[in-house]
Amino acid sequence: MGKRKSAVWADFEEIYEEVNGNKIQTTAICRMCKAILSARSAAGTGHLISYQKSCRKKVDHAARVQSRLAFNADGSVHNWNYNPTVARSELCRLIIRLDLPLGIGETEAFEDYIVHAHNPRFVKSSRRTTTRDLGKLFNERREQHAAADNKELEEAFKNLYLDEDEGGAVAASG
Ligand SMILES: [Zn+2]
Repeated sequence: MGKRKSAVWADFEEIYEEVNGNKIQTTAICRMCKAILSARSAAGTGHLISYQKSCRKKVDHAARVQSRLAFNADGSVHNWNYNPTVARSELCRLIIRLDLPLGIGETEAFEDYIVHAHNPRFVKSSRRTTTRDLGKLFNERREQHAAADNKELEEAFKNLYLDEDEGGAVAASG
């Protein structure tokens, strides 16, 4: 009796049966997939070891696929979501950094570019909305960096408001 305790048994449940008053091992159940395999001691553990190997591969693969799906489900890595609020504040940043016209977000040219190249769900942003968003962004920034030197942003914003005062509908073409 019992010379073994092969490492393979970590992945199999040993099933014993009473045969002629003797408790003998007859089957092994894979703990990973619940497959039932013959496991009479005379048969050895070779077939169990090779079964274990292939089953572990499948289980590992399944775990990897599941984790990829999980990533998608919680949106953390692969599942990028379009967020119009983020899009609007990013548009403001772009306008400030590149000194673009305030109304660019409502132009057909900009919409075509974004919709065809990046995001079919893009929502146009009117000049008025952009101006309001910029004000919000500016106030947020000012609070965040109350002490910091914010001249560049302040300057950019002043220009934008001048632009607005000068006559409202400069760049609105779309
Ligand atoms: Zn299995």
